[in-house]
Amino acid sequence: MSEIPGVDPSVAPSGPGCAECDAAGGWWFHLRRCAQCGHVGCCDSSPAQHASHHAKDTGHPVIQSFEPHESWFWSYPDNQLYERGPELAAPDHHPLDQTTPGPEDRVPADWQSHLHY
Ligand SMILES: [Zn+2]
Ligand SMILES: [Zn+2]
Repeated sequence: MSEIPGVDPSVAPSGPGCAECDAAGGWWFHLRRCAQCGHVGCCDSSPAQHASHHAKDTGHPVIQSFEPHESWFWSYPDNQLYERGPELAAPDHHPLDQTTPGPEDRVPADWQSHLHY
């Protein structure tokens, strides 16, 4: 298999939730996983947008959705969505019992007013 720059299929995801939100007690809407180092971060609709911040801070170019039943990749340098790509180390989505938005105990009642559009 040819190697794709910025993608390391052998690296497991960093955890079931956004790494920075879990550290800070925050919450997220959807999750994205860095295809290079496994960092799990929150999406651009989430209050803190940690997945994009991670890409900007590290230069890691590719994320995959960490949502169940979603396998698309996004390349920041190409600004392009890819419907499928290499199979990354399991798990390829957050736990099925984790709510969206999540985690359940940290999501405020008015969460919709905190989303970015
Ligand atoms: Zn986050
Ligand atoms: Zn990364």
